[in-house]
Amino acid sequence: MTSDMQDTSINSRLQTVSTISGISTAERQFDATGKRQDHEIRCVQRRALLETLANELPSGTIRYSSKVVSIEESSHLKLVHLADGSILKAKVLIGCDGVNSAVAKWLGFRKPAFAGRSAFRGCVYYDHGHSFEPKFLQFFGEGVRYGVIPCDDKTIYWFFTFSSSSKNGEMEESPDKMKQFVLGKLGKIPDNVRAVIEKTELDNFTMSPLRFRPPWEILRGNISKNNVCIAGDALHPMTPDLGQGGCSALEDGIVLARCLGKALRDNQSIKSEEEYKRIEMGLQRYAKERRWRAFELISTAYMVGYMQQSNGKVLTFLRDRVLASFLAGKLLKMASFDCGKLSAS
Ligand SMILES: Cc1cc2nc3c(=O)[nH]c(=O)nc-3n(C[C@H](O)[C@H](O)[C@H](O)COP(=O)(O)OP(=O)(O)OC[C@H]3O[C@@H](n4cnc5c(N)ncnc54)[C@H](O)[C@@H]3O)c2cc1C
Repeated sequence: MTSDMQDTSINSRLQTVSTISGISTAERQFDATGKRQDHEIRCVQRRALLETLANELPSGTIRYSSKVVSIEESSHLKLVHLADGSILKAKVLIGCDGVNSAVAKWLGFRKPAFAGRSAFRGCVYYDHGHSFEPKFLQFFGEGVRYGVIPCDDKTIYWFFTFSSSSKNGEMEESPDKMKQFVLGKLGKIPDNVRAVIEKTELDNFTMSPLRFRPPWEILRGNISKNNVCIAGDALHPMTPDLGQGGCSALEDGIVLARCLGKALRDNQSIKSEEEYKRIEMGLQRYAKERRWRAFELISTAYMVGYMQQSNGKVLTFLRDRVLASFLAGKLLKMASFDCGKLSAS
């Protein structure tokens, strides 16, 4: 881990609050003794994660600004055509190219569906430190769902999801309008939480339409084909309601490395035909191991988001009075997954 990552705070509590009543609807303490004592929620900034992963690779491994425009088959190799006209010859092609994956399309997957919701995200930096406890605060009510979580002693991350069409008109162009929209929808909440949004600089607001892959497509589709496979959002784009999209991309990476490692071990003296077969089987093992996990994550995230963001009277009642603890528990349960270890041998 980099020092950046060691600096992240461990958030040892999760609390959900209704923005209609202002009352806490569920709370989980992770450092208490009992079944849930092994949880922690850690907010890792994207840049720290990417740098940490990149630093593990020999220099020159990553080639930036290389947009894949098409994929061609040539015997046992895949020819990957880039936008600048160059061609990469690949023994194995792993598509980790996100929600609009060109490799997923090549494997026959359709474009991910729009969830009918969008999200804002932002980060606020406090020069002299913030006063938030190390806990993940989640708020639900009137068709919105948002959360505030410390990343470290000086940084707070927040997100805000709401029902929308895929295009949000003028708001997309104007961070000021985004900010006013969010501030107008916060409901009954503590002043220090409202202040997080107020303090967020306009150029720190980002907006994303939420997309997901219908889970039955994961069951039916080709996660791998010959020496090609997909991982991360390319495989399982999901709504962000469990905070597991990036985490499960890391799980994919570990399982895939294990399956491919086995296939490529001791391959010095084998023929390319044999190597190709081994790679194919390794990728099939990976696909088998990840299919149900991806299915469950996408379906649970969608269900949790639907319940937590609903503004119907019955669902609001059920969510705040009956299901709050169950839904908070789902977030932890889905995160609690052992994808096994990687060994060097
Ligand atoms: C509002 C919101 C909140 C979220 N919160 C969380 C959270 O709390 N925890 C969590 O774990 N996850 C969260 N996620 C999900 C997380 O951001 C994604 O799951 C994660 O970024 C997926 O990583 P990835 O590497 O698969 O794809 P990406 O991060 O999308 O990376 C794909 C890469 O491929 C490149 N690429 C795309 N097309 C091509 C092409 N044709 N050729 C070459 N390169 C290409 C892109 O430039 C990019 O660098 C959230 C998502 C949203 C929208």
